[in-house]
Amino acid sequence: GATIGILGGGQLGRMLSVAASRLGFKTHIYEPGANPPAADVAHAVTTAPYEDEAALRAFAETVDVITYEFENIPTSALDILESLRPIRPNRRALAVSQDRLTEKAFLTDLGLKTAAFAAVDDAVDLAEAIAEIGTPAILKTRRFGYDGKGQSRLKSPEDAGKALADMAGAPSILEGFVNFTHEVSVIGTRSIDGQVACFDPGENVHRDGILHTTTVPANLTASQKMDAVLLTAKILNALKYVGTMGVELFVTPQGLIVNEIAPRVHNSGHWTQNGCAIDQFEQHIRAVAGWPLGDGKRHSDVVMENLIGADMDRVPDIAKEPNAALHLYGKAETKPGRKMGHVNRITP
Ligand code: ATP
Ligand code: MG
Ligand code: MG
Repeated sequence: GATIGILGGGQLGRMLSVAASRLGFKTHIYEPGANPPAADVAHAVTTAPYEDEAALRAFAETVDVITYEFENIPTSALDILESLRPIRPNRRALAVSQDRLTEKAFLTDLGLKTAAFAAVDDAVDLAEAIAEIGTPAILKTRRFGYDGKGQSRLKSPEDAGKALADMAGAPSILEGFVNFTHEVSVIGTRSIDGQVACFDPGENVHRDGILHTTTVPANLTASQKMDAVLLTAKILNALKYVGTMGVELFVTPQGLIVNEIAPRVHNSGHWTQNGCAIDQFEQHIRAVAGWPLGDGKRHSDVVMENLIGADMDRVPDIAKEPNAALHLYGKAETKPGRKMGHVNRITP
């Protein structure tokens, strides 16, 4: 069987490895950090920094195709890897989604709606951006933000100084505050030959900036659901994307607004593990391996709950619940804010 190389050894890499293994593939994980959750289930692991050219080359030579579970891979590493093996999804998908400014420019060029936005590098930019966009607004670092980190909310223009200090000099973007009724996401996959399949949209609730629950079906009209799926397909096709992507959307009375895209399997798609015969991880592996996509039709209603930090104390009780499928990541240490696992509660 073929071997799939995965950049990143977190829980997403772990669940990708399990899906790959089920289809008869081997996986080789490349991860700079020690004891990655994916190591327990992968067939091979390289522990080395992304600056280690020899390690990157040796890794690439053992695999047939390279994919990733993490979008912040340095360009220099990608250059080396790409000279040896195909990278799927492609480099453009990564470049577009690594930077919130490039991402928003790409989305608006496609004719999709985003929050109002402006690049902010200093106090002058910020004053201009506030004059243009108004408040409330959110200042975000352009790169490396996740789980709501690297963001500062401005209730009024007086919050500018604090918000700028929160960015600590990092290139940033001011976003107008979107008055959404709720948040949904679409997990979509595109195959090498251009077949597109989207899972049912899920409705997302965040707590302290971190995804708390995803519920399917989402509260959407038939036409909103159609819009959500069509705009996801548009993004996948525009990027000639191969693999699974997460598209986060704000639902407003004026229509759907794209918040951000993630060029990988996505936390809000974990419900598919117990809601569909073929889940987001298998769809991703199928796509990057050049297979046809599977049928991701939803067979059950699901509420996915993330188990974060001390939520792990509830695992013994959750384990007694009927129709609750636990997925634990095997992380050695529990820390506040750390994603330790999730539970999919299904209504059969
Ligand atoms: P993730 O962990 O999903 O990658 P992130 O750190 O990249 O998160 P965002 O998705 O940009 O952050 O923002 C986190 C949450 O903050 C959103 O899901 C939404 O609830 C809220 N939010 C972000 N941007 C806006 C906005 N422009 N208007 C209103 N709410 C927003
Ligand atoms: Mg994000
Ligand atoms: Mg987000």
